[in-house]
Amino acid sequence: MQRFPPMPEPDARPPREPSVAVVALGSNLGDRAGTLEAAADEIRRLPLVDEVVLSPVVRSVAVTLAGPDPSKPEYLNAVALVRTRLAPTVLLGYLHRIETEHGRERRERWGDRTLDLDIVAYGDLRSDDPRLTLPHPRAHERDFVLEPWLQIDPDAVLPGYGRVADLLAELRS
Ligand code: ATP
Ligand code: CA
Ligand code: CA
Repeated sequence: MQRFPPMPEPDARPPREPSVAVVALGSNLGDRAGTLEAAADEIRRLPLVDEVVLSPVVRSVAVTLAGPDPSKPEYLNAVALVRTRLAPTVLLGYLHRIETEHGRERRERWGDRTLDLDIVAYGDLRSDDPRLTLPHPRAHERDFVLEPWLQIDPDAVLPGYGRVADLLAELRS
């Protein structure tokens, strides 16, 4: 009788169910629209990513530590709904790699950048870890995040903050 090698030890953890991660994309340097599209394609091609829905692009004034600065190059922003089984920290690692591949440099806080990829929310997860805070602590007050998100998910809810439609209305009132 043919003998098979022993089975590898099964992974103790059950396979992760897919979650929807909401990723905010922003760019204010270089071929901004091309970079956002390319980044969405790169996210789509990551392992354990099943589906990516990219929102329309919105424009926003650059915000620096001193406040909004219309003299700086304008941002293009979008939001992607990413259906994935990647753990949130692993997803963030991949997003940082994609930023780097698009020439992202980290100098001063909120400086101009070719590409910024933030995790706005990951399912209902809450985390106050400074390396990955969930939901993103400033997403609820950013119309350039809420507006494109609402366009692709009219029922969107930001965990702990409420309906995105309500947050956006409040912000604009
Ligand atoms: P902001 O966070 O206000 O949008 P930023 O995107 O310019 O600012 P970065 O310099 O890109 O800030 O990131 C700083 C750090 O924030 C990263 O090293 C990352 O570990 C951390 N971070 C914490 N929570 C998140 C999150 N939800 N998404 C992305 N990065 C996060
Ligand atoms: Ca950001
Ligand atoms: Ca960021």
